[in-house]
Amino acid sequence: MSGRLADITGPDVPECISEESVILLPVGAIEQHGPHLPMSVDTVIAEETSSALLDHVGDEIDLWLLPTMSISKSNEHTWSSGTLSYTTKTMIRVLDDLARCVATTSARRLVILNGHGGNTSLLITACRDIRVAHGLLTFLVHPSVPPASGGTSTEEELGMGIHGGLNETSVFAYLRPGEVQMDKAIRRVPEWMAENEWVKFGGKVQFGWTSRDFGHQGLIGDPTDANPELGKELFESAVESLADQLREISKFEFQEN
Ligand SMILES: [Zn+2]
Repeated sequence: MSGRLADITGPDVPECISEESVILLPVGAIEQHGPHLPMSVDTVIAEETSSALLDHVGDEIDLWLLPTMSISKSNEHTWSSGTLSYTTKTMIRVLDDLARCVATTSARRLVILNGHGGNTSLLITACRDIRVAHGLLTFLVHPSVPPASGGTSTEEELGMGIHGGLNETSVFAYLRPGEVQMDKAIRRVPEWMAENEWVKFGGKVQFGWTSRDFGHQGLIGDPTDANPELGKELFESAVESLADQLREISKFEFQEN
């Protein structure tokens, strides 16, 4: 059986959730995404990807979705009024609280599906902290791995289409037709940074940044060619890949050498 945890009754939990269950927590963000996208983009992508996974592998894997955590750590965007963000401390504590509750069920596997690149390093830390504090097997997956964390973006964006760029805008255009304001889409790629050997997105030197450091428009990438057809392709291949990742996660056990 698979489904959404919030939809079952309390007394049904022991019957529905077992040692085999995989609990999935979608994490989004409500943050500025440039002039062409609403602030809900990451939450919509995390939620839609998780729903599609439930449809896709729900009869194969005992998969249970937690409600989407729509607000997370977006302090790289709080210069822009209206962005909603937890502090690092709050976010870690919220995740710890949720994990403690998950650990009261028989489930042993907690997967965080992250739709917001700014969360990645924190979520890696949380995976270990939850493992230590609550004994759960923890995993972090992404619909697309953020370029700032070793993922890729298009050559036209010099590998630095990290926020509101071609791929993200296309996926959103596919998921929410008519909600992208393409007439406001502009190219904002940090070309000066691409010339660096080490200090750049995808480079070996990590650096602290806010989206304001790259201009007041708030995007980093080039959404001008975004289209729903590309978005469909990207979304469907992400779901395929994540389905495969969940298959492996559902069987994963540590072994002593
Ligand atoms: Zn985003």
